[in-house]
Amino acid sequence: MKSTQFNINQLVRKNILGLQPYSSARDEYVSDGSKMIFLDANENPFENGVNRYPDPQQRNLKALLAQQKEVSEKNILLGNGSDEVLDLIFRAFCEPKEDNIITLPPTYGMYQVLASINNIENKKVLLTPGFQPNVSAIFEAINELTKVIFLCSPNNPTGNSFSEESITEILENFNGLVVIDEAYIDFSNKKSWLNSIERYPNLIITQTLSKAYGLAGIRLGVCYSSTSVIEVLNKIKPPYNVNELTQQRAFNRISDTGKVTIEVSEILKERNELMLVLQEMSFVIKIYESDANFILVKVDDANKRYAQLLDMGIVVRNRSTQPLCDNTLRFTVGTTTENEKLIKTLRQL
Ligand SMILES: *Cc1c(COP(=O)(O)O)cnc(C)c1O
Repeated sequence: MKSTQFNINQLVRKNILGLQPYSSARDEYVSDGSKMIFLDANENPFENGVNRYPDPQQRNLKALLAQQKEVSEKNILLGNGSDEVLDLIFRAFCEPKEDNIITLPPTYGMYQVLASINNIENKKVLLTPGFQPNVSAIFEAINELTKVIFLCSPNNPTGNSFSEESITEILENFNGLVVIDEAYIDFSNKKSWLNSIERYPNLIITQTLSKAYGLAGIRLGVCYSSTSVIEVLNKIKPPYNVNELTQQRAFNRISDTGKVTIEVSEILKERNELMLVLQEMSFVIKIYESDANFILVKVDDANKRYAQLLDMGIVVRNRSTQPLCDNTLRFTVGTTTENEKLIKTLRQL
């Protein structure tokens, strides 16, 4: 899509377009470090580290991310996990019982859940047998009420990345929003689409601290997009959606990317070793390529193998009910010790 063709006002729901956002006390005036007295938010004045409301715009965290990712803070929105960011996209752009979205199963289950919650039709266009977007089928499915296409790359549960050509074709020929969910991008050697947000104003990238960054428990999702998209999402997000403890923990972790990089390379080394061992197992039929911290494996009888593993205290994910995923199990890569135990157990099956 050329930026001249992009008109955010045609995409936003009418009620959101005219919405006056809630102005919180902390939005109106934030400490500039001087000795101000804050009697505006009905907080308890006794200091304990978290007695004040958190910064609704998370400026410290955004400044750090902006610097690391080489984008402007105006292109960033933070959420209570990327699941909240995805939900905000539905609520801002998709008119219940009217608009539709497109997803590409087998993929992340939350897109369907959020579509159902928001009463939005989800047009499902299956991936090809090689787990790539079926671009011609996607364009056949698009109509004038299609607001968003969700692309998960690297994809969960298949593990592969979508080809650059197919993503580009969608971005350049669809007039709605294209979300690329990059939850696993830090495990991939393919490059992020982040530096394409200037070129494509309809592109939304979501990332998360839940996977490579090891902070699933604090709930922090990151959304990068054009300023016009970010402004709309900002308008409807709950004012204090990212709590103070999360902002602090995320800041510390993002400041120490060296540690994250070491853990990621450790996980990738473990993943590759696990793949080699799995190849030798008699019940393994196929191991799919992975750009993520998990491996999708086709086995002889997924229900049976799943139950056997569970019996021996190992919980994996059975993905057999997903289209194109008959008899597949998804293994998340654990620590060396955990993987050794997994291998030992698999050898006993
Ligand atoms: C795990 C995962 C997420 C993470 O969501 P959070 O709410 O940030 O924890 C998002 N998308 C996909 C595809 C995932 O697998």
